[in-house]
Amino acid sequence: MAAPIQKVLIANRGEIALRVQRACREMGIPTVAVHSTADAEAMHVRLADESVCIGPPAARDSYLNAAAILSAAIVTGADAIHPGYGFLSENAAFADMVEAHGLTFIGPSPDHIRMMGDKIAAKAAMASLGVPLVPGSEGEVATLEQARAVCAAIGYPVLVKAAAGGGGRGMKVARDADGLEEAWRVARAEARAAFGNEAVYMEKYLDRPRHIELQVMADAYGHVVHFGERDCSLQRRHQKLLEEAGSPALDATQRARLGTTVTGALRQLGYRNAGTLEFLYQDGQFAFIEMNTRLQVEHPVTEMVCDADLVREQIRVASGEALGYTQSDIVMRGHAIECRITAEDPDSFMPTPGLVSVYHPPGGPGVRVDSALYAGYRVPPFYDSLVAKLIVHAPTRAEAIARLRRSLDEFAVLGIKTTLPLHQRIVEDAQFQAGDYDIHWLERFVAAQ
Ligand code: ADP
Repeated sequence: MAAPIQKVLIANRGEIALRVQRACREMGIPTVAVHSTADAEAMHVRLADESVCIGPPAARDSYLNAAAILSAAIVTGADAIHPGYGFLSENAAFADMVEAHGLTFIGPSPDHIRMMGDKIAAKAAMASLGVPLVPGSEGEVATLEQARAVCAAIGYPVLVKAAAGGGGRGMKVARDADGLEEAWRVARAEARAAFGNEAVYMEKYLDRPRHIELQVMADAYGHVVHFGERDCSLQRRHQKLLEEAGSPALDATQRARLGTTVTGALRQLGYRNAGTLEFLYQDGQFAFIEMNTRLQVEHPVTEMVCDADLVREQIRVASGEALGYTQSDIVMRGHAIECRITAEDPDSFMPTPGLVSVYHPPGGPGVRVDSALYAGYRVPPFYDSLVAKLIVHAPTRAEAIARLRRSLDEFAVLGIKTTLPLHQRIVEDAQFQAGDYDIHWLERFVAAQ
């Protein structure tokens, strides 16, 4: 039986380490920060109750170094580990190790992490629980003959995807029979290189879907609720840039229908803690693509519209507490939008690590900035380029856009280039303002600049 958590080690860096620290502090739980030698001056270390250096700059030697992180937890007397997102957050072997050492992993069970980490297994599980899928192969496509047979059944274009995929890697489109062999071979090679697992599967490549995902939370007693959807259709290279809650394309009836299907499935599965089911939505139909068994980058838009603290809920559930509320207690109010601001050139998308000379985040009503930046901080070249999330909340989508526009205008990050100017251009676009976009829209928008 889980016991109340006394001290949390946060196995992450940057804004998400701060986000978890903030929830713990409000709950009166001390935290331990871990950091690489490159992050000794980082904000998550400066604000921590305690910190432990876990290795050199390269992530594989520090933030992915399970043994060093576990040792840090044991030495500091932490009894739980929050993995944040990325790094070890969806590593079932790490969650196993944490539990084997008598510590609490703040997340789902290792078995559910393992199941959803294999996208073929995840799709099979969801299909058996009545969740609709994108048409595609029954499972792995191990030979070119099988690939041809799938295409004969579902028609072109098709998408070849890595079973172990993540971050948009190992994904290749075949528009016709001539392109199939190359797509299949390249996707397998990329999957082997990136994930050490060459298994691929295939899906119909949808031409104008939206990416709509549902945030769920479950306790250990069979209570499962959802916190509504996020629309994450604005993507570049299958990576999200801007997210909204709710989706401009959904109404309350469609949301409730999706929510009932998803929470029912997760209840049957015995799922626990936070999770997100991702769907493509086209012509009024939802089709499941994958489940993320962790907190997501874009969780703040949900927190704003639902007036919730999802990290707090994760910690409560991991402590063995019951949710203590039901679906009807969760109400979405107004509209929220998040911009992911990265240390990248807004035109070429080349990373721009370096010294931040001026940092002035926006403020005022309905504005939240999750960032670990400060003036004088040097953005290291070793990690993800996300440096700030600007989240706005307002009664209507139009008001949220107005708030976003003025917040972007106030936001000053000098010394390095960031993607702030790109977000300023997106917000001015009439089609974006009308909510009239699909997952391919942003690539076209960027190409036209
Ligand atoms: P990853 O885990 O690498 O992020 P996903 O399966 O979540 O991969 O897909 C990432 C993105 O790729 C989706 O949000 C969507 O934009 C696009 N995508 C995935 N599957 C399809 C599909 N069948 N048709 C069209 N686009 C797709």
